[in-house]
Amino acid sequence: MTISRDPRYDILFEPVKIGPVTAPNRFYQVPHCTGLGWLRPRMVAALRGMKAEGGWGVVCTEYCSIHPASDDLPHPYASLWDKGDVKAHSLMTDLVHEHGSLAGAELWVGGARTTNLFSREVAMDVASMPNAIGLPYQTRAMDKTDIRELRRWHRNAALRARDAGFDIVYVYATHHYLLAHFLNPKTNTRTDEYGGSLENRVRLVRELIEETKDAVGDRCAVAVRFSANESEDAEGNPIIGEYREMIEMLAELPDLWDINVNNYAHEMGASRFVKEAALESYMSYVKSITSKPVVTVGRFTSPDTMVSQVKRGIVDFIGAARPSIADPFLPNKIKEGRIDEIRECIGCNICYTGDGTGTPIRCTQNPTMSEEWRRGWHPEKIAPRTSDSTILVVGAGPAGLEATRALGRRGYNVMLAEASLAPGGRVSREADLPGLGEWARVRNYRVHEIQSMANVDLYLDNKMSVDDVLAVEADHVAIATGSSWQADGRGLYHTTPIEQLGPEDQVFTPDDIMNGRLPTGPTLIYDDDRYYMANVIAELLRAKNIPVTLVVPTSTISTWGERTSEHSQIRQRLHELKVDMLTSHALIGFDGSTARIECVYSADVKELPVEAVITVTMRAPADALYRDLQQHLADNDGYQPKSLCRIGDCEAPAIIAAAVYSGHRYAQELEAEVDADNPAKYDRVFFTDD
Ligand code: ADP
Ligand code: SF4
Repeated sequence: MTISRDPRYDILFEPVKIGPVTAPNRFYQVPHCTGLGWLRPRMVAALRGMKAEGGWGVVCTEYCSIHPASDDLPHPYASLWDKGDVKAHSLMTDLVHEHGSLAGAELWVGGARTTNLFSREVAMDVASMPNAIGLPYQTRAMDKTDIRELRRWHRNAALRARDAGFDIVYVYATHHYLLAHFLNPKTNTRTDEYGGSLENRVRLVRELIEETKDAVGDRCAVAVRFSANESEDAEGNPIIGEYREMIEMLAELPDLWDINVNNYAHEMGASRFVKEAALESYMSYVKSITSKPVVTVGRFTSPDTMVSQVKRGIVDFIGAARPSIADPFLPNKIKEGRIDEIRECIGCNICYTGDGTGTPIRCTQNPTMSEEWRRGWHPEKIAPRTSDSTILVVGAGPAGLEATRALGRRGYNVMLAEASLAPGGRVSREADLPGLGEWARVRNYRVHEIQSMANVDLYLDNKMSVDDVLAVEADHVAIATGSSWQADGRGLYHTTPIEQLGPEDQVFTPDDIMNGRLPTGPTLIYDDDRYYMANVIAELLRAKNIPVTLVVPTSTISTWGERTSEHSQIRQRLHELKVDMLTSHALIGFDGSTARIECVYSADVKELPVEAVITVTMRAPADALYRDLQQHLADNDGYQPKSLCRIGDCEAPAIIAAAVYSGHRYAQELEAEVDADNPAKYDRVFFTDD
């Protein structure tokens, strides 16, 4: 059955001219990091090519260094330094062009945000200033020769981008990198023709646009990435400042404006803090001052919102990083009338952690991200089954749901047994916590898919015992029974249980909270988990007016929240909610009325009068069923499954993305030939001097 698209979405599939090139539709994957960059050219090419296959009309690189004087190690940025880079990028542009899409290169100069730890070139910026991420280096203030050199490097990189097959070449003047520092009067303290007046501060950006057009403008469009605002006020309202005037001054020079905002945590805010289309109030003026096409992001997953953005004249292109990561086939699904199949981004920002950690990008919703080349995984296609085997999956959390969905797609007969009355496991439970509602999309997408498959059965309210599993006699058994939070204080800091921690009814875990067992009086939350759970629970308790003290052994709260770009918002939220925060302290005891905490550096002890303690430390795998089954099968003859596996948190408690990945990998590899010693291909640097 062919389902046709709703005509109201036709507008999204109109071609749009960008200078000398034409995008086949309005879906635009803006530059975004992958943690692959120059280091893994085949992995990144396949990842970008997949976006084009899925219908993104424009697919861009990540930030792409123009010269070794802008190197961002340990982050694997992209680079266009030499012919080797041209070759590497052409892998990507070829794949993007195969699907009729345009490829864009975001030329980048880091300025004070880079220290050039790899190349050891001295970092340069508009003035001598401290390294922006706090490394003990300062930049060299650029003199006229430096500026001339920079322009030459930029021009040469643009030529290399053209030679690599790119159709769009960026001048990147935002995100606190070098060009943004020239624009900003607070950072630009120069007294020459590149400083002082607005005209002077804009001069370098203007020159780079003109010179890029001159170099490659006959074949490539020139895009400018620019911020729409200077900052925001205490209520979060945009302060546009001089930025409108700057865009007015340059309005018709580039072929396209890629607009974002001056606060990264807002621009790509976690769904807990920032909702769909959140940039509109910042940048809606831009189209009124330029005739050139405009793109912006906004974690767009609703085609109705997209159409509204275009029809109301906010943008010409629907920009996306995260929605294109969660679902590379989002455009094609809209095009083919398969809106209910869209795998919507949940706004967890796990994808962003790859950039910070210098590791391949991963996604909670899309387990195939980064695996396109090295494992041959495709977000929409999967190898058919190789036998008539039946599979029993126990536990319908993210691991069990994904394993079942993907096995179902392979054509296997799958039985999914779940103890509780509803599917989703931890995702359903956590989505009920403050601000995490969109996380339910992990469950919703998978349950929707499963329900459409005749070869898959979901049995709710079915707590499986060893005997129950044996009675099913499935050919393969996957145990996905999750994990439970520990109540004894053990974690990364305390490797043994806290000796005095009671009475039991005054000590709580996140499971208690999610089960509805809450403290009623002043509460100490001890967070050795270091991510979202403790601070989300603090928010929940404050909404009930319970006084909360959050104690962490680290020198700041939610250290992993820095990786997901939500750390400052978490802190602001806790300040607003009047949560007391105590860093560098560990819980060492609780007697029902007094909690004792010690400084992790001095061992000084403090006593805090509280009625309850919530330990957010570590989880224990709920693997009793797995272990008992394994034992039973070892001790007894009779029914033996071809395989027994544990997956997800039952194997190793971790983030939701890891559970989804685990379920997906199980499904991909079941009855498939996988070299156990080398399960993936390894993308390594080409050894060539060409
Ligand atoms: P993961 O993140 O690994 O998917 P979750 O904790 O989210 O793990 O989900 C585990 C699921 O397994 C929960 O929904 C839980 O109710 C279910 N479960 C646990 N034990 C059993 C069992 N013996 N039989 C069926 N379902 C179970
Ligand atoms: Fe969206 Fe999370 Fe996937 Fe990033 S990791 S694309 S935020 S679902």
